Amino acid sequence: MSLKQQCVGLNDGHLMPLLGYGTSQNREVSASKIFESTKIAIDTGFRHIDSAYVYKNEKETGQAIRSKIADGVVKREDIFLTTKLWCTFHRPELVQVGLERSLKNFQLEFVDLYLIHFPISIKAMEKCKDAGLAKSIGVSNFNRRQLEMILNKPGLKYKPVCNQVECHPYLNQSKLLDFCKSRDIILVAYAALGSQRPITWVDQNAPFLLNDPVLCSIAKKHNRSPAQIALRYQVQRGVVALAHSYEQNEMKENIQVFEFQLPLEDMEVLDGLNRNFRYFPLDIAAEHPNFPFSDEY
Ligand code: NDP
Repeated sequence: MSLKQQCVGLNDGHLMPLLGYGTSQNREVSASKIFESTKIAIDTGFRHIDSAYVYKNEKETGQAIRSKIADGVVKREDIFLTTKLWCTFHRPELVQVGLERSLKNFQLEFVDLYLIHFPISIKAMEKCKDAGLAKSIGVSNFNRRQLEMILNKPGLKYKPVCNQVECHPYLNQSKLLDFCKSRDIILVAYAALGSQRPITWVDQNAPFLLNDPVLCSIAKKHNRSPAQIALRYQVQRGVVALAHSYEQNEMKENIQVFEFQLPLEDMEVLDGLNRNFRYFPLDIAAEHPNFPFSDEY
């Protein structure tokens, strides 16, 4: 992959850029807005793009990528594209069908990473990698016990390369991160900026991460924005951070995360902000036998 951005090595030999552009809409926007903002993200320098079947934006995301390839801005191999298997495709015979449907939406031949959006068996995912439709396979929203079940599965062919979970200073996932590191699995942070989405599954009274006084004072000290500090915190601890935005000035700000470092004492202060607070508690699924968030981590 010819990338200028910093990457992490995955356990299957592929590389993943440490900063990703999150495409999930946090408000109703037009298809053209999704298309345009994804093109702007690529122009701004994002090379890792996080999508999902359930976001209903694969068509516009694929269109934006193909348009930037046609313009000569990037080659396909410069882009690290993720999508996710939605729960309606969990039956093993539907897993590859789900990915093929996503690829049809993208109008692309493969994705770089295919994730199981919510916990379920990985077996049928391995076939997608073997078929060349996904370069890497991974999981999302798995707790330690669920990861261990996969890792201990007899006949496991491919370890998941990553676990994409909610992660930010209010939910720093330090134990899950240590576990993932010990098993050579990359932790990918969603809601790394505290999400701020005005939709039902985010508590309207949730604390606004980017206004946190400690985060803001560290930002002021380094002449950076709170968003930059929240993203730098992740990449500096080896976590791949996703950041969503429709605004080019914010995208530019977010990508500057590689231009500075935080001293250890600030990293420790940020660690101290942890309060195990979830912006996405997904209470709606709490009765499901695979509900991941009842365990400590
Ligand atoms: P983020 O934590 O990325 O926060 C996005 C919000 O932050 C937007 O409101 C955006 O504003 C604002 N923002 C972005 N940059 C800045 C900045 N520099 N300064 C101030 N505000 C800023 O939230 P998401 O919930 O979108 O998570 C990121 C991505 O993670 C998603 O897009 C999706 O790809 C993935 N995800 C995965 C999940 C899973 O289950 N696997 C669940 C949830 C998310 P504005 O909109 O105005 O630009």
